[in-house]
Order: sequence, then C-alpha cells, then structure tokens
Amino acid sequence: MELLKGIAVSPGVTIGPAHVRHAETSFNIPAQAILETDVWKEIARFEDALTRTRAQILGIRKKIATQIGRESSDIFNAHLLILEDRTLIEDVIGIIKERKLNCEHAFASVLQRYFAAFSQIDDAYLRERVADIKDIGRRILENLYGEQKDFEKLERACVIIAHDLSPSDTAMLDKDKVLAFVTEIGGPTSHTAILGRSMEIPAVVGTDRVTSKVKTGDTVIVDGTRGVLIINPDGRTIEEYQRKGKRLTEQTTELDKLRDLPSQTTDGRKIILAANIEFHDEIPSVLSHGAEGIGLYRTEYLYMNRTDLPTEEEQYRAYRQVAEKMAPLPVIIRTLDLGGDKFLSSLDVPHEMNPFLGWRAIRFCLTRVDVFKTQLRAILRASTFLNLKVMYPMIASVQELKKANEILETCRQELRVEGQSYDPKMEVGAMIEIPSAAIISDILAREVNFFSIGTNDLIQYALAVDRVNEKIAYLYEPTHPAILQLIRSVIENGHRHGRWVGSCGEMSGDPAIAILLAGLEIDEISTSPVVLPKVKRAIRATSFSQAKEIARQAMSFQTGAEIREFLDARVHEIMGDQADE
Ligand code: PEP
Ligand code: MG
Repeated sequence: MELLKGIAVSPGVTIGPAHVRHAETSFNIPAQAILETDVWKEIARFEDALTRTRAQILGIRKKIATQIGRESSDIFNAHLLILEDRTLIEDVIGIIKERKLNCEHAFASVLQRYFAAFSQIDDAYLRERVADIKDIGRRILENLYGEQKDFEKLERACVIIAHDLSPSDTAMLDKDKVLAFVTEIGGPTSHTAILGRSMEIPAVVGTDRVTSKVKTGDTVIVDGTRGVLIINPDGRTIEEYQRKGKRLTEQTTELDKLRDLPSQTTDGRKIILAANIEFHDEIPSVLSHGAEGIGLYRTEYLYMNRTDLPTEEEQYRAYRQVAEKMAPLPVIIRTLDLGGDKFLSSLDVPHEMNPFLGWRAIRFCLTRVDVFKTQLRAILRASTFLNLKVMYPMIASVQELKKANEILETCRQELRVEGQSYDPKMEVGAMIEIPSAAIISDILAREVNFFSIGTNDLIQYALAVDRVNEKIAYLYEPTHPAILQLIRSVIENGHRHGRWVGSCGEMSGDPAIAILLAGLEIDEISTSPVVLPKVKRAIRATSFSQAKEIARQAMSFQTGAEIREFLDARVHEIMGDQADE
C-alpha cells in the first residue's frame, strides 16, 4: 500500500482498478526497488510480456503476409529476432535478480545501452535497426503496463492514471467508464480539473510520478476531496474509504434538500447562484443542483475534437437547445475562448511560446471575424427565448470591447435585413479576467450591461502564476490581497454605472470565499454545478451585515495566507462542523 498526495480538484471518493495511460512510451523509466520475494514474480511478468509481444508480432506478420505479401511481412522477422535475443533477456533478468529493481526499468535501461551501442556503429543498415529495437521495445513496455492504447474505449469502469489529460482528451472520456482520474501535471483551475467537476467524478492532479508508481490493474482509492491516491490499499483502508464515500453520499442527499430554497442571506440579501457548463448535457445536473441559470457556457468545447469548424446552423441548434431547456432561467454564452490550455484541431493556430498570453480568445476572434460572426449570428438567432446573454472573454482594453460590440451590431443588422428574429435587448457583458480590464473597469462599464469576473485567469495573470502548472500551484492564491482588491474595484465600478457584476471563476465555489464575495456585494456567483449546494448553504447561514464585516476585515490583512486563515475561522464560527465537509 502506498499513499500519494496531489491537488484535490474534484470531490468524491472512489475505489477501483487503475488504468495507466503513458503519454508516450518513454525509455526513461524510474527504478523502483522490489522485495527479494518478488524477484521471480517480476521475472515472470517480463517473460509474460515477451510471450504476448511475440504472439502479437506473429499475428501482425500473418495479416501483412495475406494482405500485402510475404516480402513485406518479413520486416517483422527482425522484431522476432530481437524478442529472442538471449543476451538482452539475460541482461534484463540479471538487473531484476541482482539489483532487485522493477522489470520495466531493467528492460528500458538495457534498451538504452543497445541504442547507444547501435548509434556508434558506422553502418547505415545496422544504425537503422535502432528503429526496430525502439518499436519492439515500446510494444514490450506497453504489454508490461498492460496498456490499452484506446483508453477512451474502456471495457470496464476504472480510474484513469495519466501524465496529463488535455481538456480535449478529458472531453472524450466515457463518463460511465471513468470512476476518477489522477494526473501528474495540472493545477486547480486547469480546464481538465474543471471538466472533472463538470463530469462529477473525483479527480486529483499534480500527483508526482503517479504513472510510474501505479500499474494497470492495481486497485486504487481516489479521494478527490482531499487530493489523495492510495495504491493497493489493505482491507482496513478500503473499509475506511467505503465509509467515507457513504458519508459523502449522505451529505450530498442532505445538501440536495436546499435545491428549491432561495439563495439569500439570513437578512434577505439575494445572491444569484448560477452554474458553469461546457456541454448541453450538463443541464440536468445544473437544475438538480439548484442553479438559477447558467453563468458561463464555455462554447469552445463545440469546436473541439473535430477537424472542421461548427457551422452557424449547428451552433444555432446547440445554443437554442440550451436556451430552450433553461428558459426562463438566464444563460450567458461566452464567445469562443480558444487558446491557453484549449486547442482546436480545426483552426490553424500556430504553436506559441506563451499560449496563455498569445493570440487567443477575443484577440483571435477580432482577427478571424468570419469565425466570430458565425458564432455571434448563431447566438443572436437562438436568443428568441429571451433568456440569452453574451459575453466576451479576455477583454484587455476598451478598443477590443468596442470592436466586438461593432461586430455584434453588424450581425444584428444582417439578421434584420434577412428577416431573421433575435432578442434586441440581449444583454452584453465583458469578462474581467485580465488585470488591465479590472483596473479600467470604470471605463469598460460604459460599454456593457454586466461584468463577469473570471477569477481563474485573473489570478494567473495578476499573480503571474500559470494555472495549469502544479509546481507553482502553491502560489495560486485566490485570497491574495491583490486579487481581493481587484475584485472589489470591479464590483464598485460596475455598480457605479448601474451594471450588475458576477463572478464565474472556480474560487467562488469555495463557501468561505462565496461569503466574502457576498460581503463585497457581488450580484451573482457562477461555478461548477456540483459545488453550488455548499455555496448556497453558506450564504443561507450568514447575514449580509456579517458578510460585509468579514469582507471588511479580510481586506485589512497583508497576505493571502492570513486572509485564508481568517476566513476559515469565521466560517467555522458560522457553520460549525459543516464548514469541514
Ligand atoms: C476564468 O478565467 O475565471 C473563467 C471562468 O474562464 P475559463 O476558466 O474558461 O478560462
Ligand atoms: Mg478565463
């Protein structure tokens, strides 16, 4: 049994078989000591992988021989020879036996020696054999890991263990087959983490070397609430976590009772609770968690995992479906927020050194006006249910905002000429997620109906902390005084101009922070549906005057840690044990 710590990003506890996904089979495999008593088991695992690889190669050779011809199939004879190479096999077994190390490492280190030796040889033909050795080496390692390449098509429900999962990889996961996921890289507000919460599966990111510590088939416990992974737990630990899982389910059932109660403070101050979504099939979860609308619909997922762009008609149908299912509750559609950690294969966007600071989101849309207009026309056409609002991501200046609004106006005019209907009063907002936008929010407020503070990005840009980098995740501080000051000034500036102000970053899903935001007079909180009931419970337990006092005092501290500590203490006073759930 071994316990690994990572960053907790999606709550819940699960126990199940692991499925390890190696980013790319690398031959740099860390050594792991094995017990004397496990030496023969380890050798048997290696021999078994050789046998399976041999059977696969024979199968491929046969297929090629019948489909293409005998000659082509002979290529695989070299592979078979390597598989039967006694020197190689003996070397690997020697390392396992004498140095008592895991067979993956033993095999990979012997292969590295072969590569080095072959690359020195002054014979082109022999040098090319390195490719064969690499190829067969990869196959053997995959067999050792028990890896199934197409992990999206899992045969049984399991826990995905991966070096990294991109947001598009995560979006492809079969929700019914994935019990949880654990990755080596990623931060608390990476889009992969956010997707875990949307899918309501436990998730832990930033778990050091997890892919080399877990093997496919190992039983693992994932505690996504505490950020813990336990490999091959003993019976007592399994029972303990089963009890924990049961307690969590009971707590969820309790929280569900709040669903139809208003989200207001004890003295009647209303704070709208809305949900963030990526896909329209999340709407049942949005409603079952008591959201009063959708505060952020991340439309870029409509553009992902495909080689073409979604047409106006296709987007119109998607937006209309969401509007219709949610009506009369409001839905804020965010225009394409491409870039950062979200890449699209359909658009030829060059690889950039700093993708989070690059040609992305509104910057991209203002140069690819064709792509932008297609989306805006689709949104306008779907607005006839009178519950849609639109907002632009990554606004940094008033010029960008004015230009986006001009393009929106052109789309309205075009639709009028075409005789198509739309909601002429559809509200338009700006996301405030870049420090410059927060600082000039007084100017921006004149151009919009509302602001939505995107704290996920605001924190990364204001504190210069990459939100997907686990190594600096400790610096990603939502309670940093600089962040709170920026938020306060955006709310004040918005209100001064009669605009309502929401917050759609993940930090507002933290009950203590939600109380603080309520005290700063935020009008709406939008976050992952799964955490909304806890936010509602916290708001319902606090009075507006208490929240304002908490905000006032919090702003007087000098560090994020002090503010965090203060908030936790105050929430404990207000909510008692519920604060720990
Ligand atoms: C944000 O940046 O806070 C936000 C809500 O947008 P996203 O997480 O999609 O970048
Ligand atoms: Mg953002």
